[in-house]
Amino acid sequence: MPAMDAPSVIEVKALRKSYGDFEAVRGIDFSVREGEIFGIVGPNGAGKTTTVECLEGLRDITAGEVRILGLHPQRDARALKQRIGIQLQESILPDRIKVKEALSLFAALYDRSIPYEELVDQLGLREKMNSYYDSLSGGQKQRVGIARALVKDAKILIFDEATSALDGENERKIMQNLMSEMPDRTILFVTHRPSTLQYVDRVLLLDNGHL
Ligand code: ATP
Repeated sequence: MPAMDAPSVIEVKALRKSYGDFEAVRGIDFSVREGEIFGIVGPNGAGKTTTVECLEGLRDITAGEVRILGLHPQRDARALKQRIGIQLQESILPDRIKVKEALSLFAALYDRSIPYEELVDQLGLREKMNSYYDSLSGGQKQRVGIARALVKDAKILIFDEATSALDGENERKIMQNLMSEMPDRTILFVTHRPSTLQYVDRVLLLDNGHL
């Protein structure tokens, strides 16, 4: 848990997002402090993914204000892209890419990256380095997706259902590594799993677009 006076690195004010006539996010406010592990939970369709996609600049917002490290998700998209690590709900990779090729590709995409070798054991991918992506299990694919977020030496990580396909032991290992090796990183988690909540400092409950 970070100090109460740690600076805010994510600020969301009166955020609204509509798809046509349907309002998926209905005016929500929250902020996340530096170093905090912050959870967003809620039922299917509550607006969790929409909210994080607005933070990531993947969706334009209908109303309200969002700042990440003081940056505007869309106007400052280039700068922001180098500073936040994102694991998407679905990672789409070519079937015939090998795990080691995928990790090396991710590392090459960013100005600042950490050597991907450091992540291989942490994520339990050592014996799959020469395997094709399409031969991996759901949980192994998810670990490749987590590697994609971690390889970028980013101050903020945003995970959308990052651990939904992991068994309890793998989730525990990954969460404990995240917390011990990167204590100054801010992590925002969207999750359905009650087990993930034991690792978070604070939880925001979204339901039907409301807090
Ligand atoms: P889940 O737990 O199922 O992943 P969620 O809380 O992440 O759900 P969102 O994906 O944010 O929910 O969806 C919120 C609402 O917005 C849902 O009712 C969904 O059908 C709707 N929605 C999401 N994306 C679009 C879109 N591109 N066009 C229209 N409606 C959308």
